[in-house]
Amino acid sequence: MSELREQADPPVRLIGFWGSPENRALPNPADFADPAWDEPERQWVADYLEHGQVAASWMGSSRCRLCSRVNGSRDLTDGRYLWPEGLAHYVLGHGVRLPAEFLDHIERRSRALEDLERDDSWWRRATGPT
Ligand SMILES: [Zn+2]
Repeated sequence: MSELREQADPPVRLIGFWGSPENRALPNPADFADPAWDEPERQWVADYLEHGQVAASWMGSSRCRLCSRVNGSRDLTDGRYLWPEGLAHYVLGHGVRLPAEFLDHIERRSRALEDLERDDSWWRRATGPT
C-alpha cells in the first residue's frame, strides 16, 4: 500500500548569525575576514544578500560585531539559506568571506536564473483578474 505524502521542504540553512563574548556557540566574524578578498566578488555577494526575501522582522536591531554600527532587524532568505540583513555589511565593510559552499550556491542560482526557460502561454490566455 502506498500513501501519498507531501514531502516537507528541507529546513533553510542559517548563515551569518554570529556569536558574541556572551555566546560563543556561533562563529566569530573576525575568523572569516579576508582583507585581500577580490572587491568585485565581494560586491556581487553583498548584492545577492541584499536582495533576499524578508522572512522575519524583529523588534530590535542587531549591531555589527566588528564595528558596533546598527546593522538591521530583519532576516532574509532565498529559500535555501537564511541570513540577517546586516550580513552584506560584514561582506562589504569587513571583508568577511563566506564559506565556498555558499558562494557556489549563489553562482549556481545566478546561472539558473540566466538559463530559465520561459513559457508565456498561460499569460497570453489571461483576459482579466478572474
Ligand atoms: Zn561593521
